[in-house]
Amino acid sequence: MTQCLGRLVKDGPRGVYMLSFEEGGLFHIPLRCEMVTRSGDLCDSCVAKDIKTKEKLGGIRGITIGGPLPSYLMGRVTDPIPYWSRLYDSAWFRLKIEEGYTLSEETMAKVKKAVDKAYVDVTPVAPEAFPASKTKKEKKPVSAEKVLEKLPVIETKTQVPVKRKPAVKKTLPQGAAAQVDGEIDISEHEVLYISVRKQEVDERMFYLNPKNDKLYDMKCKYVGRLKDGAVVEYPDSDAEPS
Ligand SMILES: [Zn+2]
Repeated sequence: MTQCLGRLVKDGPRGVYMLSFEEGGLFHIPLRCEMVTRSGDLCDSCVAKDIKTKEKLGGIRGITIGGPLPSYLMGRVTDPIPYWSRLYDSAWFRLKIEEGYTLSEETMAKVKKAVDKAYVDVTPVAPEAFPASKTKKEKKPVSAEKVLEKLPVIETKTQVPVKRKPAVKKTLPQGAAAQVDGEIDISEHEVLYISVRKQEVDERMFYLNPKNDKLYDMKCKYVGRLKDGAVVEYPDSDAEPS
């Protein structure tokens, strides 16, 4: 006759069996079953809970088991802590800590007391990891803007079209001048492509042509020159005949 190895949890009272992170969110503290076994290492009640838990686990798809956690057996105190539990030091708990969740000194003292009691004479083992097949997250598409932000400024060379008036106005052949209403007539503008990089000036983003310090806004409109780290108004020479 020995003490049952079953690991149990209780939902209440809160602050005793369920403790909270400083940032909110509750977790269970482990409780070792106090029953005495007749044979084997689990008492009859824990054996029944163990069977129920295994049946339920066979049907779950995510990383939570569903239903009231105290109705399940959290394995034996000698087993790794189940991934689907909300126990102190479970995979879920460790993830919370990684995310920046913290415990007050008072909570930590309660945890230590409970853990010492539940795991007396037990060698601690690492918790069960989340099953890889159940935690596959869909990759979020990353916007082009985000990718650009991540790149070092010098690498973000971009080609932007800048309108430029030709020196000599071309005479268009008849028929070619037929324009659809509302369309911008670009026949009078020659499109010039220049190499630029993104540059922040006074907390605004611009495209900068490093060759002549010309700045263009995000819509590729010329705004002026970059001088001593500031935008200086200056006529756009590209708009003039060259
Ligand atoms: Zn038990």
